[in-house]
Amino acid sequence: TFKALLATKTDKTISTKVVEMDEQDLMPGDVSIAVDYSTVNYKDALAVTGRAEVMRQFPLIAGIDLAGTVEASEYPGISVGDRVVVNGWGLSQTHHGGFAQKARVKGGWVIKIPAAFSTKDAMAIGTAGYTAMLSVLALEHGGLTPQRGDILVTGANGGVGSIAIAILSDLGYRVVASTGRLEEKDYLRSLGATEVIDRRTLSEAGAPIASERWAGAVDSVGSRTLANVLAQTRYRGVVTACGLAQGMDLPASVLPFILRNVTLAGIDSVNAPHEARIEAWSRLTRDLDLSKLARTTEVVGLADVPDVAARMFEGKVRGRTVVDVNA
Ligand code: NAP
Repeated sequence: TFKALLATKTDKTISTKVVEMDEQDLMPGDVSIAVDYSTVNYKDALAVTGRAEVMRQFPLIAGIDLAGTVEASEYPGISVGDRVVVNGWGLSQTHHGGFAQKARVKGGWVIKIPAAFSTKDAMAIGTAGYTAMLSVLALEHGGLTPQRGDILVTGANGGVGSIAIAILSDLGYRVVASTGRLEEKDYLRSLGATEVIDRRTLSEAGAPIASERWAGAVDSVGSRTLANVLAQTRYRGVVTACGLAQGMDLPASVLPFILRNVTLAGIDSVNAPHEARIEAWSRLTRDLDLSKLARTTEVVGLADVPDVAARMFEGKVRGRTVVDVNA
């Protein structure tokens, strides 16, 4: 048997509990994994609190991320003993997820962890960090270079924000961090932010176009914040959108696109193709400083996940939370 954080639904309420499960309870898949670590992302918090319909069937093991060692494999190229990571796909939606000591998944979902990272590092990065890397790759795809000017990172204390700041600053960008937690200025500076601004300057309804400030931006907040960021983006700038921490609306105008040639790049990590994942994980080995990663990370046990999820919506979780499933 193994331990898992299992979600059940009665009427419209989702509840979670650490339970003992049997390996025969796992869903079909061609790779079996002894899980070392998982992590709590914003989407996990949405799932386990029931704030959004992430899990499509019940009972289901929650957790959109996992890292561990392969115990059995029928999938070409994946062997017993490989250290692997799974981010997204069906995890915690239609397939048992990462908040468990064991997992059985489709081989096509599995990525080998680069040698530079431990399974714990892989989960300190997790979906949030790999999405930050996908965002940086999109900025580069749009032609941005550090010489072009300041890069804004919104939701700076969050998982995506913290890791985006660390990567971008090490690539030589001058990073401006937008946060509701100005008291975390020292933390944000230690990750590489040069300037820290109050997110309230971006969170109210603004003009459709405004004076040019940002060469680019990594946004995980959406809503009026993203609309204002677009309005303030410089000629031929690039803005990435991966999140909805403020809201999923986008009350913006087309003016930044048609007057300033601004690019808005959408970022999805869940169904990103294998090659994009390989590129992101490989660039993380080069562009993410592990001492900065450690600074963003707190470790908890399986039973702590519901509490971390609740604190996330109170704006009390900083950076990344790793879940030691064997603690
Ligand atoms: P997180 O750790 O909770 O970070 C979110 C941050 O957003 C918070 O720390 C906070 O930063 C800021 N924030 C929260 N409420 C806000 C509000 N009302 N107005 C403005 N800012 C607010 O979450 P995460 O795991 O980094 O994920 C961030 C977002 O990206 C989520 O919406 C998540 O669903 C999304 N995401 C999407 C993908 C994808 O594949 N598209 C992948 C990963 C994440 P401050 O305290 O510094 O202000």
